[in-house]
Amino acid sequence: MNISLSFDAAGLATLTFDRPNSSANVFDLPTLAELDAHLATIESRADASGVLLVSAKSKIFVAGADLNSFVGATAEQLANIVDQGHRIFGRLENLKIPTVAAVNGVCLGGGCELVLACDWRVGSLDKSTKIGLPETQLGILPAWGGSVRLARLIGLPQALGIILAGKQLVAQQAQKIGLFDEIAHPEYLVATARKFFARGKRRTKPAGGLMNSVAMRPIITLQARKGVMAKTRGHYPAPLKALDVVVGAMGQPLAQGLALERAAVLALAQTSASRNLMSIFFLQERAKKLKIPGVENVGRPVQRVAVVGAGVMGAGIAQWTSSRGYPTLLKDIAPEALAKGLKTAEKIYAGAVKRRKMTVAEATAAFDRITATHVDVPLTNVDLVIEAAVEKLELKQKIFQQLEARAAAHTVLATNTSALSIDAIAGGLQDPGRVVGIHFFNPVNRMQLVEVVRGARTSDAALDTALTFVKAIGKLPVLVNDSPGFLVNRILLPYMVEAVRIFNEGIDVQRLDRIMLDFGMPMGPARLSDEVGLDVAQHVAVDLQTRLPKPVPINDTLVRMIDKGWLGKKSGTGFYVFPKEKGAKEQSNPALGELQTSGKAQQQDDATLVDRMVLVMINEAARCLEEGVVDAPEDVDFGMIFGTGWAPFRGGPLRYADTLGSVEIVKRLERLQAEVAPYFEPCAKLREMARTDARFYSTT
Ligand code: NAD
Repeated sequence: MNISLSFDAAGLATLTFDRPNSSANVFDLPTLAELDAHLATIESRADASGVLLVSAKSKIFVAGADLNSFVGATAEQLANIVDQGHRIFGRLENLKIPTVAAVNGVCLGGGCELVLACDWRVGSLDKSTKIGLPETQLGILPAWGGSVRLARLIGLPQALGIILAGKQLVAQQAQKIGLFDEIAHPEYLVATARKFFARGKRRTKPAGGLMNSVAMRPIITLQARKGVMAKTRGHYPAPLKALDVVVGAMGQPLAQGLALERAAVLALAQTSASRNLMSIFFLQERAKKLKIPGVENVGRPVQRVAVVGAGVMGAGIAQWTSSRGYPTLLKDIAPEALAKGLKTAEKIYAGAVKRRKMTVAEATAAFDRITATHVDVPLTNVDLVIEAAVEKLELKQKIFQQLEARAAAHTVLATNTSALSIDAIAGGLQDPGRVVGIHFFNPVNRMQLVEVVRGARTSDAALDTALTFVKAIGKLPVLVNDSPGFLVNRILLPYMVEAVRIFNEGIDVQRLDRIMLDFGMPMGPARLSDEVGLDVAQHVAVDLQTRLPKPVPINDTLVRMIDKGWLGKKSGTGFYVFPKEKGAKEQSNPALGELQTSGKAQQQDDATLVDRMVLVMINEAARCLEEGVVDAPEDVDFGMIFGTGWAPFRGGPLRYADTLGSVEIVKRLERLQAEVAPYFEPCAKLREMARTDARFYSTT
């Protein structure tokens, strides 16, 4: 039983959501049917005076629809799911007695739509409370009445703000816009909710004000469409369709609005964008449950952490681990570097307070978990050390030897190296089995992906400790074997090197970036190089050049830029010039011409240039599978989407590869090999696949 129904002496009905054997409440068809049956019971009770909706879970009200049970549904089954939701939530809405939702914890998607069908909503101030409609992020739209009811409750502009961006609000934000009628501390939530029964049924009056007037609708629609197009370049049909539905349902009878919603969701569910965005959701779930194949619970729990190096990454890692409750020792050799690192962490905490993610007291307590030191201190009570010093092999080898001498025998020694070999770093240790890679991405507080790297000699215990820790701090791990650049940088680097080659062949930097933005990347490659730092990009490229079996050859473009002091964003000049004034947009560097020659790229159309940059990534990704750097195409796509923002609507490089087909990919690579350069030669795996027209994924 997912929902229980009880009545008190005054006839007040309580519907308690409590899915058995699960920490979450979700909606599937059986749960909807249970709700339907309970509503029938309530309708049949003459003494029923009101309905209170609560959850028995500590952190979740109703997390949404159970996507597992909906994936693979036929159009007919999907239509039935939509119809059931419409009918049953409508039944809740049409009860003659007042209905109040007391929302503690996550209330998203179908959960939010459920409470939108109630008269009143009271939100708990517990940190876990989040309310919103994230469906457009899955390539669909709210289809249990949310696309219609939300705008009626809070007005068109606010509703569009939530639905088109798939936003989730904390309790205070939800109250501010009228989505919650009241907020209360968790211990007073039910008492506060009960007070609303005295108000009776809600009499909905349309949201007022100029912005909700009929006259403003076309203007708001136009603005919203512009905003969506600027953000998505038209690759994501869901927000555009949602816009049509939300606006189209305004001023219409409910049934008409719901019909629009139904037609739209059925159409969206057919799109490849929706299939790919759903697959990303499942990749995320897969990462949360990731285990080392054949190995269970051999790691040790981590209670205390040390971070070596307080630079960009070390400071970011210390901020993150301290925010997750881990006492963190931050070590650097330079006191100034430590001071800077602490400032960085403090700034991130201040940002979290500003965005109301933390209270001042919470941020202060978390920041105080960082202990900074520039002298060597005992490490015997530390369970995990994460080294994030400068990217130099000899230095890291020396640091690890010192760590081995000072840490306890059980302490796992991890490195955050971007590309150096785990085996080489562990080389001089008595017990190289304790060394593992924990590779965070920059900025640590925003990037969810972490590569957990197994060296040839890494022990199962060290690997399991690292993997369990990464999950415990709320990051999403991908398990990779030691290889130059691991997974993400190994695949990304050929793309960046190829982009520099294309630039060098005479393509305007704005066009170069535009075509990859049009492809769906979050940032063009030249702009990305500026962001990473041209010196860093060059350093990694040179390193991989010598260690990868078939690298894309680098040219001297970046070296010439670095010689001029153009390091990218951090120096103010790179492929772009970054103005000092806040908010001003960067312009392409006017002096770039001298770095360019006239080359083949000038004769090539956008599609060929895209192929040059994207197919080198697919070729490298196939090599990663060939060499066993990762086990499955899912790992590649997950890593590239969460590590680089790789065109999510395409589902990742290997899902994209499958849409082209291995025969076509090999054909295009061979053409580039003949017409552009030998390094486009398709790898053995792709050739093998093309022989049987094989795909990376067994299902589409
Ligand atoms: P950084 O130059 O900002 O910081 C390095 C810090 O290490 C400096 O503060 C330096 O004083 C300190 N240091 C040097 N020798 C030390 C020693 N013996 N003991 C303690 N501290 C010492 O570098 P970063 O960008 O933070 O990179 C650190 C590591 O993380 C590198 O291995 C890098 O490849 C990797 N990485 C960087 C990024 C990135 O985007 N910056 C991303 C992922 C991984």
